[in-house]
Amino acid sequence: MVSEETSKLELSLKCPMCGSNLQLIENSTYVILGCPHCKIYTRMTKKHIYRNYIEYGGNYIHLKWAELIKELYIRISGKAHQESNES
Ligand SMILES: [Zn+2]
Repeated sequence: MVSEETSKLELSLKCPMCGSNLQLIENSTYVILGCPHCKIYTRMTKKHIYRNYIEYGGNYIHLKWAELIKELYIRISGKAHQESNES
């Protein structure tokens, strides 16, 4: 898919279509949530994440991880819904 370096994490979140564990894929530009079985993916640019999901407080940087995953999950649920409507 992409030649640049990527990292993959398997999540305990389930695919809304097939129930498999979703994967979180990260490369230099995007964070991608998807199901390798259904081939549905949603991606968000890291730029967007830095703008919306990071809080700077004093000496620390806090990533609003739960909110980020929730947003990605809502997006992928929307995609799953669309695809099941089309078929
Ligand atoms: Zn799936």
